[in-house]
Amino acid sequence: MQIEAAVLRSAAEPYAIEKLELAGPGPGQVLVRIAGVGFCHTDLLGRAGLVPTPVILGHEGSGVVEAVGPGVTGIEQGQHVVLSFDSCGGCANCREANPAYCDTFFPRNLSAAEGPVGGVLSGWFGQSSFASHAIAGVRNVVPIDQDVPLELMGPLGCGIQTGAASVLLALKVAAGSSIAVFGAGAVGLAAVMAARVAGATTIIAVDLHESRLELARELGATHTCTDAAEVSGVQYAFDTTGVPAVIAAAVDALRPTGICGLVGIGQGDLVLNGNALSSGKTVMGILEGGAVPQTFIPRMIELWKQDRFPFDRLVTTFPLAEINRAEAASLSGEVVKPVLLP
Ligand SMILES: [Zn+2]
Ligand SMILES: [Zn+2]
Repeated sequence: MQIEAAVLRSAAEPYAIEKLELAGPGPGQVLVRIAGVGFCHTDLLGRAGLVPTPVILGHEGSGVVEAVGPGVTGIEQGQHVVLSFDSCGGCANCREANPAYCDTFFPRNLSAAEGPVGGVLSGWFGQSSFASHAIAGVRNVVPIDQDVPLELMGPLGCGIQTGAASVLLALKVAAGSSIAVFGAGAVGLAAVMAARVAGATTIIAVDLHESRLELARELGATHTCTDAAEVSGVQYAFDTTGVPAVIAAAVDALRPTGICGLVGIGQGDLVLNGNALSSGKTVMGILEGGAVPQTFIPRMIELWKQDRFPFDRLVTTFPLAEINRAEAASLSGEVVKPVLLP
């Protein structure tokens, strides 16, 4: 069948909207008509020359199942789904219901290869959803309720899940506790909302952009500041920036026995003072919040329905054809979470 996709021909070129041929779903795969797809900062790795081209990126897709391949059970044509990260199902961590730490997480998700789309590389995060249609595997297709706005649900598959699950599952933020969130982008703001859900009573958002801090306050931050060095005495810290100096400040901001979670793409070597952890502090690397998408995405949707997790406040929609404008708006900080509509 013919599809329309936003293709990155090389790291330096703008995305081009192209008509391409897509083969049907193979064994264990499903064909999804994409309703919306979030633009996540990880897609910018294509700009850094870290993904082979020409490639279809996009890994926060949501849509409707149009066909299922041989051997697929439990997912039917017409089902509304969110596409999340892929995992193998067979390694030790997958068997222990820890697919975010799958042995093959990086080759399965942060790479692309020749696949079902003719002439370009695909399979980015097991989906390549900057397109009208995508092929995904049963392990990264998450059925959701039919009564929510499908086109907005894609970011639950990666960025929003990362922020919320880091707080609720990985850090296990306790009611009445304190947390500082460094970086108020989509992941950080999802963490702020989740900290409020968890019942944290001190929620500090740190960011350089005043407009984002204002949004953070509306979403549950009790305090905001622009200088990471000003924060101190918190039980939990959560870094979304990957900036070594910010991470060092986040660890420093912990009270004794505090835990600092890291999800940012590393911007260099992490350097901590030799005594930085001596008072019982922990630094925890986190991927995708450590979530099982099949159970965590429905939980976020239930919270959204009760107005307790209004992640749609972060979203600005663009037609897929305006992906270059969406990317620029994301980079400038003008838009927190662009969602592209094919
Ligand atoms: Zn695995
Ligand atoms: Zn992502």
